[in-house]
Amino acid sequence: MALFSGGLDSALAIMLMLRQNIRVTALTFMTHFGCDLGDRSSCGADPYPVAEKFGFDVKLMHLGQKFIDIVENPRYGRGKNMNICTDCRILMLTEARKFMELVDADFVITGEVLGQRPMSQVRNKLNLTEKQSGLRGKLLRPLSAKLCRPTEPELSGMVDREQLEAIQGRGRKRQLELAEQFGLEDFPTPAAGCLLTDVGYSVRLRDLLEHTGRLTFDDLNLLRVGRHFRLDQHTKIVVGRNESENKKLDNQRKEHHVRLEAVGVGSPVTLLIGHPSDDNLRMAAMITARYSAAKGMPSVRVAAQSGNSAPKTFQVTPSRDEELRTIAIT
Ligand code: SF4
Repeated sequence: MALFSGGLDSALAIMLMLRQNIRVTALTFMTHFGCDLGDRSSCGADPYPVAEKFGFDVKLMHLGQKFIDIVENPRYGRGKNMNICTDCRILMLTEARKFMELVDADFVITGEVLGQRPMSQVRNKLNLTEKQSGLRGKLLRPLSAKLCRPTEPELSGMVDREQLEAIQGRGRKRQLELAEQFGLEDFPTPAAGCLLTDVGYSVRLRDLLEHTGRLTFDDLNLLRVGRHFRLDQHTKIVVGRNESENKKLDNQRKEHHVRLEAVGVGSPVTLLIGHPSDDNLRMAAMITARYSAAKGMPSVRVAAQSGNSAPKTFQVTPSRDEELRTIAIT
């Protein structure tokens, strides 16, 4: 059973098994934080081309709410941003173990390399994730295996340890040599990680968690779109930055969101989420006016619509940038 991101290291780990005639089923995990097949900007990459070329099966598994739970409350803390790499690895390995038991597989492999990533791949973290996932002795990291204690499949002779690797650190030289040997082409360049490693996304996520205490799918989807401003403890607004984001905001709008748009001029779509008090609506209207084509005008008309009721209009002065800096969630 292999953890397979679609990237080079996990592909090489699989190749090292296939070379020993060991049958591999790869598990590709998806989350709401960018590690999905449609999001090539992050850690997700399409696992199928390599799987088809080299003849192994791929199973997709969405971690859904289980992943959101650990983002809300990570047991082992966060990295530089909101990333929760240790908890994330434990969850993925635990799911892999359950699947391994379900299909009666013998052990789990990953493309982890000792010392490659500061938070999750130092030796004590590798030992911790092995223990906490219940995979003690059954977790093989073929790329660094010769630097680790032998696992059960190596001790039993199922895997020939001599044919495994002793790669350590951030260099890519040995991986590139192996890629050439195996004929692995077109692999994605190593990605920084999922959206939880992105500074801007992390600021918005932290704000959301601090003000709501919990993460819903709807709120998470909105974090990927637009400029965000916090108006009060319970209220924020999201302003579309272009036509495509305006469409996304319209698609993601819920019954309880108020939609604002400047009237008669090019305008962003703004969603107000929270308390639609007059003060908040007026502020949201001023911000919408600021990002509209009429931002230089002394007064702009902005329509605010809740649910299906008739729009309420506000005549406002566009916000000034210095005011916005204090409430921008960036
Ligand atoms: S960057 Fe960290 S938290 Fe994000 S998917 Fe990778 S290991 Fe998990």
